[in-house]
Amino acid sequence: MTSLHSKLPGVGTTIFTVMSQLAQECGAINLSQGYPDFDPPPGLLDRVEFHLRRGGNQYAPMAGTPALCRAIAGKTQALYGREVDPAEEITVTSGATEALFAAVQAFVGPGQQAIIFDPAYDSYEPSIRLAGGEAVRIPLLAPDFAVDWDRVAHAINDRTALIILNSPHNPTGAVLSAEDLDTLALLLRDTPIKILSDEVYEHIVFDGRTHQSMLRHDELSLRSLVVSSFGKTFHATGWKVGYMVAPPALTAEFRKVHQFCQFCVVSPIQNALADFLQSDPGHYLGLPDFYQQKRDLFRRLMSRTPLQLLPARGTYFQCVDYRGVSDEEDTGFARRLTRELGVAAIPVSVFYQHPPDQRILRFCFAKDDATLERAAAKLAGLEPVSA
Ligand code: PMP
Ligand code: GLN
Repeated sequence: MTSLHSKLPGVGTTIFTVMSQLAQECGAINLSQGYPDFDPPPGLLDRVEFHLRRGGNQYAPMAGTPALCRAIAGKTQALYGREVDPAEEITVTSGATEALFAAVQAFVGPGQQAIIFDPAYDSYEPSIRLAGGEAVRIPLLAPDFAVDWDRVAHAINDRTALIILNSPHNPTGAVLSAEDLDTLALLLRDTPIKILSDEVYEHIVFDGRTHQSMLRHDELSLRSLVVSSFGKTFHATGWKVGYMVAPPALTAEFRKVHQFCQFCVVSPIQNALADFLQSDPGHYLGLPDFYQQKRDLFRRLMSRTPLQLLPARGTYFQCVDYRGVSDEEDTGFARRLTRELGVAAIPVSVFYQHPPDQRILRFCFAKDDATLERAAAKLAGLEPVSA
């Protein structure tokens, strides 16, 4: 047998696949992997059907269809006040995942470092390692999971090529403030460090907060690659369509990789998204309220369980501290909850390099109200541990 040299030793199947599979095997309610159990807007589905039937089923332009790039530029201007050139600053990608992966390949090289924050979305570190780089992981601390900028200042050195930020943050729901962005701008001034800003939950922020996109910030936007996902915005995670916004020189480098890992993205869906973004901006403008109602319902229902709710400022995830019911480590507890109680969640420790001594699970509330009610009713059956 020939020997096999793994480029990702120690990496297994992602937790999202593991927990969704277990949920399916057990017939459990799946609040683990983040996806809605309801459909995209009917008007958008109509446009997909229209474009599928009208032809236009061959390769799209490498950077995205001009109509969709123009619609994205319009949205960027309307939401963040930033004028971007649809031809030179926007690239449509195969979901946010491809945008993140291609950006890391384009901007991190052997011997270089990328700073990421724990708990970190699981694709970041493998992408950095495959680029030959090193991930420098800085923990965010419960319950607020705010960035410790002093630690970032200490971590920055001549080898730092990239900082990957994610706000609103998966899995914790934390959001960056305008002050965070100003602090970051000061730290990076006079350095060549780029920012890869994962903003896939840009439209899911609560309690009247404003999403602090890097695109709002005059200084940071010049060094930022900003990633969005139509999967989140249009309840269509299975379509895997997203996009990257970055200044022309960064976009040019980014596209050198994008053209060889994806080339182009599914044509009829791009055309449908272009139509719908323009005809129905009310859809994404209504998302904060839509998901805030779900968050509030889920929190109300969960307050009847012995699980302790952590703050939820953005995303469609709610984290809970379960020390009140068990001291078991979270991967085992999440499996047991799926098998024995019939509700699947994500154990948060898997997103850390060095998991802290905490007992936290993440639940996805992008579900019909009836699904959330059924799940919470099951979780209400958990027994508090006696003191
Ligand atoms: N980043 C974060 C923080 C996510 O939660 C997700 C979720 N799916 C992605 C990136 C990937 O998005 P997509 O499905 O568009 O590839
Ligand atoms: N981003 C989704 C989550 O956090 C899952 C994406 C995936 O399954 N790769 O649950």
